[in-house]
Amino acid sequence: MSEMPEKSQVMSELPYPYEAQASQTLFDRAAAVTPGGVNSPVRAFRAVGGTPRFMVSGTGPYLTDADGREYVDLVCSWGPMILGHAHPEVIAAVQDAVARGTSFGTPGEGEVALAEEMVARIEPLEQVRLVSSGTEATMSAIRLARGFTQRAKVIKFAGCYHGHVDALLAAAGSGVATFALPDTPGVTGAQAGDTIVLPYNDLDAVRAAFAAHPGEIACVITEASPGNMGVVPPLPGFNQGLKDVCAANGALYISDEVMTGFRTSRAGWFGVDGVRPDLMTFGKVMGGGFPAAAFGGRADVMAHLAPAGPVYQAGTLSGNPVATAAGLAQLRLLDDAAYEKVDAVSERIRSLVTEALTKEGVAHTLQNASNMFSVFFTDRPVKNYEDARTQESFRYTAFFHSLLENGVYLPPSSFESWFVSTAHDDRAVQRIADALPAAARAAAEATA
Ligand SMILES: *Cc1c(COP(=O)(O)O)cnc(C)c1O
Repeated sequence: MSEMPEKSQVMSELPYPYEAQASQTLFDRAAAVTPGGVNSPVRAFRAVGGTPRFMVSGTGPYLTDADGREYVDLVCSWGPMILGHAHPEVIAAVQDAVARGTSFGTPGEGEVALAEEMVARIEPLEQVRLVSSGTEATMSAIRLARGFTQRAKVIKFAGCYHGHVDALLAAAGSGVATFALPDTPGVTGAQAGDTIVLPYNDLDAVRAAFAAHPGEIACVITEASPGNMGVVPPLPGFNQGLKDVCAANGALYISDEVMTGFRTSRAGWFGVDGVRPDLMTFGKVMGGGFPAAAFGGRADVMAHLAPAGPVYQAGTLSGNPVATAAGLAQLRLLDDAAYEKVDAVSERIRSLVTEALTKEGVAHTLQNASNMFSVFFTDRPVKNYEDARTQESFRYTAFFHSLLENGVYLPPSSFESWFVSTAHDDRAVQRIADALPAAARAAAEATA
């Protein structure tokens, strides 16, 4: 009968008899009032099937769902929660800010302090403008690059995601890759027509595009180290090559550090590879779990932004006092020792995963960019989106559900980075270690 809801069909096909009754009830309510029952597509579990877990609380490395089940969280809100959930000092800073009022629509000290902290950490970041989401940051950076260079075309890479900016929603990885929507309806030819999409890690393709469009390319935008097609780091020299090609052709090099910023080191990916971007974008970690994001870079370029210059950009909640307090509190706690801790726990979990999969003879490639990592179910290295798409995603589905059932929460898609925090302690790692053998077996036994 066609009356059967789609999600129940998916659930009945799964061999895992776990209970998620309260989550399912919430999901049914959500589906009645929200398209697909979620406010961001990947949360709906469509790539892996089953009932999305509705979370009610988080503490340190753990999340608790509506059915009262606890999970070790390897998503960390897609990166922001680098100190774990409900870190007492971040919560205290938020409570202090909230008690003084939640939004003024005027300048305030908190946004200045956050901008100062960011500028102090990242040498090529001379000025920043705060916004409320990574999407807004990349959208504004592209507008500024076009205004500054007085050129229209933008180069982006297949599999890199820069938020749901119209001009950048071509071959955009993760959510889009998961749903196999090569182009989304609603983006017009005019909006995407100035976007040139090239294969990642292919400098020759970039040089050829500049040769084909002399004087027309405003900027190259790239994830500093991509995490939205799984983790696919730049090959040695790739980012420097992009910077050099841009400089030689009067275009701007925009490094999207929304995911990597203040995550892969104190100074994000810039702190790892040292390539100086003209503009950079930030989000996730810098908001401490609140909607705060930013773009910035060369002061002479930023001077073109209103009210200093002619390129318009604005936001009612930009620099919000609660969001900036959370972000600043989090950044101030992120010293060298914190990054050493996150890097070390990432390495431990990576070797546990490889060990378990190898033991079951499952072909896989585990890639990392400092503490960001993901597993591809393929035996070949993945250097671009084409490679990522050759993985056996059906194995990830089995692996994911086995871990979920045993209290480990992975990203619900094989095209996403996994994230850890300073709060992932021995107990959390042990829980993962205990759950991995069964998950590896499930991956080995999975069929397409
Ligand atoms: C998450 C992300 C974005 C979009 O940020 P939102 O806050 O979700 O709009 C942009 N770029 C990269 C690299 C991201 O990972």
